[in-house]
Amino acid sequence: TTETEAVYTDRFGTVHPLPDAAAEAQVRAEDRAHVFHSWSAQALIDPLPIAAGEGSTFWDYQGNAYLDFSSQLVNLNLGHQHPDLVAAIQQQAGRLATIQPSMASDVRSELARRIAEVAPGDLDKVFFTNGGADANEYAVRMARAVTGRRKVLSMYRSYHGGTATAISLTGDPRRWANEPSDGSVAHFMGPYAYRSPFHSETPEQEAERALAHLEQLIVLEGANTIAAIIIETIVGTNGVLVPPPGYLQGVRALCDKYGIVYIADEVMVGFGRIGEWFAVNAFDVVPDLITFAKGVNSGYVPLGGVVISQRIAAHFDTVSFQGGLTYSGHPLACAAGVATFEVFERDGILERVRDLGSRVVEPRLREIAVKHPSVGEIRGAGLFWAIELVRDPATHEPLVPFNAGGADAAPMAAVAAACKQAGLWPFIHFNRMHVAPPLVITEEELVRGLDIIDEALTIADGYVV
Ligand code: PLP
Repeated sequence: TTETEAVYTDRFGTVHPLPDAAAEAQVRAEDRAHVFHSWSAQALIDPLPIAAGEGSTFWDYQGNAYLDFSSQLVNLNLGHQHPDLVAAIQQQAGRLATIQPSMASDVRSELARRIAEVAPGDLDKVFFTNGGADANEYAVRMARAVTGRRKVLSMYRSYHGGTATAISLTGDPRRWANEPSDGSVAHFMGPYAYRSPFHSETPEQEAERALAHLEQLIVLEGANTIAAIIIETIVGTNGVLVPPPGYLQGVRALCDKYGIVYIADEVMVGFGRIGEWFAVNAFDVVPDLITFAKGVNSGYVPLGGVVISQRIAAHFDTVSFQGGLTYSGHPLACAAGVATFEVFERDGILERVRDLGSRVVEPRLREIAVKHPSVGEIRGAGLFWAIELVRDPATHEPLVPFNAGGADAAPMAAVAAACKQAGLWPFIHFNRMHVAPPLVITEEELVRGLDIIDEALTIADGYVV
């Protein structure tokens, strides 16, 4: 008899040994011994070893399949192991794996041109970075150089990245232990109709009052000390907060009035998440700088950047821009970016996102909101939604307290466990579950995932007063 080794063939025809219990134990042991994880108490975590992924699904070493409703960290817009992206990276690696940023490279040029073509207004130059946080750092640095001012205003309930200035800009608890990294940041309240800090009764009122508050802050902080205002076009990890009509245009007007640079952080929402290349296009507003990362190439190779208006770029025509990164515009990352444009165009990804969002996700979430007393509000666009869970629908008391951890977070942990048990990997943050699957998810998978969420929310209902 011949002994056959247990193997599987991936979607590219390569044969791999089938992961077994010993392999899993080794991954776990080495991880626990030597990998230092982000945002975690190291002794309290138990990361799940992942064996493989394809499209909207990934598998653990036990062979359990998970529908990836969080697109990893909302970066995997074209799903796991997209053949076009993998091939583009492989081809580029064979031809020219790396080249430093002060030389020109065909894939970098092409990607910059393609980004400029879909960017709004006169934003037509791209500074490449390695990810989102450094894109925001560099946008701020450009704003400071151009205005000669230092201060930056950003929203409470925002996330702008984990590096020094980016974490200072961040308006959520991840900033607290890291203060002060950059002392020249002031925070303001953005619109949030469901928990209106302005006690508004209509979206128009919320926009108007939030803008009045922002203008007051500008005046009190000293308009001539403020270099930039940075805003996530749709607030991401802090709740998929879609701005009310007129708000972003009002921010634009305030920036014009006071000579402040408007930075739109589109790291999470750019490149198709709501069915637009850049989300500002849906709000008919043109910022001075747009930062991006994640969806530009689904994170197959780290890449981010800043799209720059002609006015700001012109400042650096004769004044040297003092900044750079060894891997800026890395050819492997750019090759995956160019392939992303090709796939989006060939497969009609933007149209597909708008269609699935309005025809499948939104109506189903509306049904879910009516059915489950624990659902306080659902909101979103395209394939980017939040389900906000409450303990008391009348008072909007959240299902778990703000920044809940440990035992306080138990109700959300129970919902998450039920989802995983049923084969769905959820995105959960405080009292919210987000729906952010890969943009290539099939309709059948999307419906199946929403069924699982519907079922899991019965657990949340059990906590409602
Ligand atoms: N900005 C936003 C809106 C984000 O969601 C993120 C990451 O989640 C970042 C910036 C930071 O990006 P990165 O983790 O690539 O540095």
